[in-house]
Amino acid sequence: MSVNTLLIGLDGATYLVLDALMEQGVMPFLQSFLAEGVRADMRTIVPPLTPPAWTSLMTGRRPGEHGVFDFFQLEPESRHVRFFTSHDIHSDTIFSLASQNGLRATALNFPSMFPAPKIAGYVVPGWVPWRQLRLACWPEGLLDSLKNLPGFNQRELAMDIKLEERTTEGCADSGEYGPWIELHTRREHNWFDIFRHLTVENPSALTAVLFDGVDKLQHLCWRFIRPEDARPLENDWEHKIRALCLEYFRRLDGILEQMCALVGPETTVLLTSDHGFGPTRTAFHINSWLERKGYLAWSEAAATWDTQGALLGVSQVARHTWMLDWTRTLAFSATPTSSGIYIVINRDGNSPGVPVSDYGAFRRRMITDLLEERDPRTGQPIVEHVWTREEVFSGPYGDTAPDLTLTLTDGGAISILPSKDLVSVRPDVAGQHRPLGIFAARGPRLRRGVRIGELSILDVAPTIVHTLGLPVPGEMRGRVPEEIYEQGAMRDRPVRRVAAAAPVATSYDESAAIPKMNPEDEELVLERLRELGYVE
Ligand SMILES: [Zn+2]
Repeated sequence: MSVNTLLIGLDGATYLVLDALMEQGVMPFLQSFLAEGVRADMRTIVPPLTPPAWTSLMTGRRPGEHGVFDFFQLEPESRHVRFFTSHDIHSDTIFSLASQNGLRATALNFPSMFPAPKIAGYVVPGWVPWRQLRLACWPEGLLDSLKNLPGFNQRELAMDIKLEERTTEGCADSGEYGPWIELHTRREHNWFDIFRHLTVENPSALTAVLFDGVDKLQHLCWRFIRPEDARPLENDWEHKIRALCLEYFRRLDGILEQMCALVGPETTVLLTSDHGFGPTRTAFHINSWLERKGYLAWSEAAATWDTQGALLGVSQVARHTWMLDWTRTLAFSATPTSSGIYIVINRDGNSPGVPVSDYGAFRRRMITDLLEERDPRTGQPIVEHVWTREEVFSGPYGDTAPDLTLTLTDGGAISILPSKDLVSVRPDVAGQHRPLGIFAARGPRLRRGVRIGELSILDVAPTIVHTLGLPVPGEMRGRVPEEIYEQGAMRDRPVRRVAAAAPVATSYDESAAIPKMNPEDEELVLERLRELGYVE
């Protein structure tokens, strides 16, 4: 048994950064990988957000078809939010499909995998608080068997951000950035060690490892990684931080080389991100904008609301919803991560909200207003594009998604808390997600050294399923891109498509209780989101 397909995920990787690093000699292995394989830009879903994007990559489906839209799930009735779990994925994944077809599958550090699906293979989920990691792994006892690996550190592997206690704007000097970057370098080695151990011990036909330090470093260290987007580095400590960032990528390159060497030349290796990245300087205070337009009203209590500590755990994310006057609010944004707006609908004719018959006109007017809004400092539009729910969340699970989703001109994030300014400016350039991620592949039947046109993140799952020798399920929206294969490869081994099956047989035990996080554990996860600037 050997690894047939190795998927290496680099969260947030963009050729904008990687090309420069290859040019500077920081990533020589990646350079040779691309020279011997296929390279493409890869367009992600809207919004370009980690959990729905990886879930789309793993399922080949759009968010409305698999059910994950955000880091959080909004309970429409109560307007409370909770963290999403693997039970929110109403769809097969590449891992469950492989397992159902008698192939072993291993998934390391992927989101949306907690609680772990009971597949033939290994699962160590990502985004799990360290105390829950032991119960989160599959098969049972897996974590105990990993603890003897040299350098294994459960807290670092999982989400114990208490180790760092940095915030997005909080890293003021080298003394704070340095250990944080080195932690992420160690974490990637930790994941690599687990991959190596499991692959040597009992390889899986489909093996997938996600390295997420790329995303983290680009969020906080964009100005050091690409000073040309910000300002020239001045002090010694700034140059030192840049050197540490480059060292992270140099070590990551070494990990990629060792992974490819371990699986050997007969393995098809796919290297992808979940979205791209770019610089950002601002945040748009969406709920304050809605208030100015008369769509939203804060309650009288909002002025005196203690925004810190009044609520525990994940409830804090949507704490502003406690501050809204629901008798006068027609639209609101629930989470800063979604860049989405919900419209309150008056379904029975007697409740506050927009009457059903006015919904279309109301929404069109809001789109026009959003596109016309100008940044008071620059006179430039704030919102580049507004997506309707039907455009980006069509599918059986789309009805809990936001009514509107924004793409901001600055590529930045929204803020959901009240503010006197519509647009706030960051003290320094930060990194934020963009639509174009990376795709690269090298393997036995693949073309060598070619750059092809843009692919979709939805193409990855069908490609993996095809590489495993399985028929591509009709539910997968993407295609197997023939242009990545050598001439004749498709003729020898054509893509087999099978009709969409009846409701998906998930590999999750639907009746099993979802482990409940206590507020303290939720706080650990939130801490990580806060650190990246997602949550306020
Ligand atoms: Zn991501």
